[in-house]
Amino acid sequence: MVLPVIAALIVLRLAAELWLSALNRREVRRHAGAPPPAVAAIVDAPTYAKAVAYTLAKSAFARIEMIFDAGVLALAVFSGVLPWLFAGMDAWAPGSAWSGALFILFASGLLSVPDLPFEWWAQFRLEEKFGFNKSTPRLWVTDKLKGLALGVAIGFPLLWALLALVRAAGGAWWLWGWGLLFGFQLLMMVLYPKLILPLFNKLTPLPEGELRGRLMALADRTGFRAQTVQVIDGSKRSAHSNAFFTGFGRFRRIVLFDTLIAQLAPDELEAVLAHEIGHYRLGHVPRMLAVSAALQLGGFAALAWLARSGWFTAAFGFPAGALAPAFLLFGLLGGLVTFWFSPVANFFSRRHEYQADAFARNAMGAPGPMVGALHKLAQKNLSNLTPHRLFSGFYYSHPTVTEREQALLKT
Ligand SMILES: [Zn+2]
Repeated sequence: MVLPVIAALIVLRLAAELWLSALNRREVRRHAGAPPPAVAAIVDAPTYAKAVAYTLAKSAFARIEMIFDAGVLALAVFSGVLPWLFAGMDAWAPGSAWSGALFILFASGLLSVPDLPFEWWAQFRLEEKFGFNKSTPRLWVTDKLKGLALGVAIGFPLLWALLALVRAAGGAWWLWGWGLLFGFQLLMMVLYPKLILPLFNKLTPLPEGELRGRLMALADRTGFRAQTVQVIDGSKRSAHSNAFFTGFGRFRRIVLFDTLIAQLAPDELEAVLAHEIGHYRLGHVPRMLAVSAALQLGGFAALAWLARSGWFTAAFGFPAGALAPAFLLFGLLGGLVTFWFSPVANFFSRRHEYQADAFARNAMGAPGPMVGALHKLAQKNLSNLTPHRLFSGFYYSHPTVTEREQALLKT
């Protein structure tokens, strides 16, 4: 009974993904000849044509990748290769936390290999064609190796601790496991910008000057009290631009892409910074943390139930009740369920974006700078300005530029 349900879930998600992307392509083509007036006001005709071509190229590529990924998942789950691998690795130290952690890491690593050619193609063919790629094959390979090393260095102790906890803590292990994972995530929020990000990028404080003066004054005015605004060399890999916020409390920091600084005027950069500060001042960070903690608690409860049941792992050819396989299967198959809830998550994320935009408008005293920043970001990133509503519902954590502009101009 388990396997047919999993097979149906794989097929259902793939069908939904393909249908949504076909809907989206049709919507983009429908507007390709003549953009809606609100869109024509944002981008000129050549840029619009280029954005349409970019969106269609990405969508066609994603379609192939979706089918391929579903095939790889089905093969992994139904072929019996994972139980075979587990039998081999578990034999080194039957039932031990370290052989279990090793199995999960090795199997996950193995399953990410088939996707590498797609990632390569996306970076060096697709992004290259539209002028976004700034990476080199050498940098790309180095990134992958660093990512692998980090995955093992962080993943192994964490998985080992989780698996060891199950034996040590007995029936309530999932509560402790949840606490462990949540504590680990808080720690990573602090350590990520300090220890991990610098392995891949150079972060420098924004140099003294007019721009820094303006941004620091804005931070003061909005009650953020920043020590510094940091600049990340995103241009090393891509011409896409962005800004983000990491950490919390004393460890909070705002990071601007160097590409963003090059593209926006000073008052537009101020507005983007005000938007990021808005997320902080409006309490979006602790709220999202609380929501994700609650969801993870539910996840751990489900995992504990499945791991205890015996039938779950046995259905896939593992020994009944084997712990490490239950963890791996949960990780591999969880997305088949969570996919259907992405519109809910995106709905709340979009509400936060509107609120942060309004905060930026008020901090700047007028909607102009934020609208200007959004326009330029859409132009430079060749954003799809006419997504299908269902497609954006499933995949967009941010409202579209025209939606944000309308909200900003509404008093
Ligand atoms: Zn935002």
